Amino acid sequence: MTGAAGFLGSHLVDRLLADGHTVIGMDNLLTGAKSNLAHLEGEPRFTWVNHDVSRTITVEDPIDGVLHFASPASPVDYLRLPIQTLKVGALGTHNALGVAKAKGARFLLASTSEVYGDPQVHPQPESYWGHVNPIGPRGVYDEAKRFAEALTMAYHRTHGVPTRIVRIFNTYGPRMRPRDGRVVSNFIMQALRGEPITVYGDGSQSRSFCYVDDLIEGIVRLFHSEIADPVNLGNPVEFTVRELAEMVLRLTQSQSHMVVRPLPIDDPKQRRPDITHAREQLGWEPTVPLEKGLQWTIPHFRECVNA
Ligand code: UDP
Repeated sequence: MTGAAGFLGSHLVDRLLADGHTVIGMDNLLTGAKSNLAHLEGEPRFTWVNHDVSRTITVEDPIDGVLHFASPASPVDYLRLPIQTLKVGALGTHNALGVAKAKGARFLLASTSEVYGDPQVHPQPESYWGHVNPIGPRGVYDEAKRFAEALTMAYHRTHGVPTRIVRIFNTYGPRMRPRDGRVVSNFIMQALRGEPITVYGDGSQSRSFCYVDDLIEGIVRLFHSEIADPVNLGNPVEFTVRELAEMVLRLTQSQSHMVVRPLPIDDPKQRRPDITHAREQLGWEPTVPLEKGLQWTIPHFRECVNA
């Protein structure tokens, strides 16, 4: 597993271990945190490797699955780390696919709803080709992931590597970094500290937020499926950013006020997954409503405030 110390990576490591697997977790800790794996100290079925997967990956042991999750994923991170983001999406994916090919292993790429860019089709089905600005600031992430998908399909078609591609929509939950800059972490931290809630633009832009446990269940099902085409995983219930701010304020009982900040360049106006394929082919759909998931997430951020 690459990106093992990240938010999603570390949850997936836990799930794979719980399912009885042995896991090698790689990460260069660029945006991941070793503390996300601290509870695995002494776990005999988990091996930690500090490595930048943009460089050649060497694995001695036989493996039967490669799960490629390494990448900055929050807009503030990939805007700060544009070249690393392009490298891990391109070179890192190439190296990870090379390992899968050499080991005869199944490969899963963590792709993203960002491949749809600022979508002109709503909600977004997998068949939509997207609306991406290749030279805009977000292009470093969007195009890296689009290239990663293309390379994954090429390894599937050319080398017969059994590949899976998950397009992950906005996901939240415990272990998100308090300062990762994403809307859920920003709003909860601001609300808990009594700071202004920073709404970018007029707050009418929408997102669809999936609780991490739901997402991990979908990823495991996809990995074990026979579906080589990309599959959307996310919660299809859509909220505006302003509605999210109001819900966070209510759940934290915060006295914070909303303030308006500039909308980032190329910020998608709306986003909601069409999850028909996941429903029909994986028997999967999210089970945790946003309000419940936020109630399970807020205590994590409370600990960050008190730390
Ligand atoms: N956003 C916001 N305030 C913040 C952080 C984000 O209004 O403090 C908005 C952002 O402009 C976007 C949405 O929330 O429209 C989701 O942003 P995020 O960075 O979480 O991820 P994205 O979905 O854009 O990748």
